[in-house]
Amino acid sequence: MISLTDARAYVLDRCPGPVTAEVPLAEARGLATSVAVEAPEAVPPFANSAMDGFAVRASDTVGAPVELRVVGTVAAGSVPDVEVSPGCAVRIMTGAPLPVGADAVVMVERTQSVGGGDAVVVEVEVPEGNHLRTIGEDLQPGDQVFSVGTVLGPGHLGVLASIGVDRVAAWRRPRVGVLSTGDELVDGVGPLEIGQIRDSNRPSLLGLLDEMGVTGVDLGRVADDEEAIEVALRGGVSTCDAVLTSGGVSMGDFDYVKVVLDRIGDMRWMQVAIKPAKPLAFGLVDGVPVFGLPGNPVSSMVSFELFARPALRAMAGRSDLDRPRVRAIAEDDLRRRTDGKVHFVRVVVSTRDGGTYASSAGGQGSHQLTAMAAATGLAVLPDGNGVAEGDEVEVLLLG
Ligand code: AMP
Ligand code: MG
Repeated sequence: MISLTDARAYVLDRCPGPVTAEVPLAEARGLATSVAVEAPEAVPPFANSAMDGFAVRASDTVGAPVELRVVGTVAAGSVPDVEVSPGCAVRIMTGAPLPVGADAVVMVERTQSVGGGDAVVVEVEVPEGNHLRTIGEDLQPGDQVFSVGTVLGPGHLGVLASIGVDRVAAWRRPRVGVLSTGDELVDGVGPLEIGQIRDSNRPSLLGLLDEMGVTGVDLGRVADDEEAIEVALRGGVSTCDAVLTSGGVSMGDFDYVKVVLDRIGDMRWMQVAIKPAKPLAFGLVDGVPVFGLPGNPVSSMVSFELFARPALRAMAGRSDLDRPRVRAIAEDDLRRRTDGKVHFVRVVVSTRDGGTYASSAGGQGSHQLTAMAAATGLAVLPDGNGVAEGDEVEVLLLG
């Protein structure tokens, strides 16, 4: 057996690095910037009002209440056609450009309209700059907006739009093919014949890819047939940046994925010292990483977490490769026997009164998907006897 650390390093060492691209804003959420972003223009682009109210000269409000003559109105999106001379005010809306002469805004709630709107009583003294957004207050031209490696969230996309950037240099989103193997697998909702099961790995793996923001490509299902597996794999690597297969990498008579990978790729078959997900075939076919994940539904998902996720994150230019880990108090006995492996136990993590707790999510068989679905973490049990209720345990968070 090979240790998890060594197996992970083997995989990460062989995956290609990230590729930069000019990505339209609409497709950039979740990507990491590959080049630092500088502001080509100022934000705000002009001095404007932060309130609905009156643009005034601050010096005119000294000794408030004072009455000022209203000489016009300026709306957001319009150009002021009046100046604010001494003793005057201009009605102004939020976001409207400040008229020449004005140096402050009084919010409408601090004013009284008089003379049918021809004049306004300002009730408070305001300082210069009151309720004003000055030009370049948020960003000046040439300011660094984002450093390299910034993961673009909704707010980042808004910032880019605000400075007139419609394509951003980012590490390209990997396209990842997902292929299921097994003569027993069927799709759809029809009745099962004896020996058949429904393919659940593809939806789970495609879901994990979607959740982590990479593009999943459904490569379908192939029988336990060397030629069919080879055709499917060659097709997958010709259109994808990585391929995930499930099944066919164990010790069975018909486990052809590892046979084919060995023949057409630069493959290493590993027995990783973990449970579940012991077998892993990893190789490059035409330079494209292929992850031969185990077939058992829980194993394929755990293997994805431990190997595919960090590798795909690295390929997407991310430096944070893994899910976070926390320390929790076990609320159940999480027992195991010494077998030279690290065990990953499906748990539900909760927090209360400042403490973090982990309880078993249900049946721990590698075919028992319901506990995997319910789990919000994987408790990490190093080789030994496990932990007792009340003991501390390390948990890899899934949510
Ligand atoms: P294998 O690694 O091909 O020997 O598969 C191990 C176990 O996982 C067997 O019980 C398979 O029937 C099951 N299995 C393999 N692929 C899938 C899949 N796509 N969906 C659900 N179960 C699967
Ligand atoms: Mg199989």
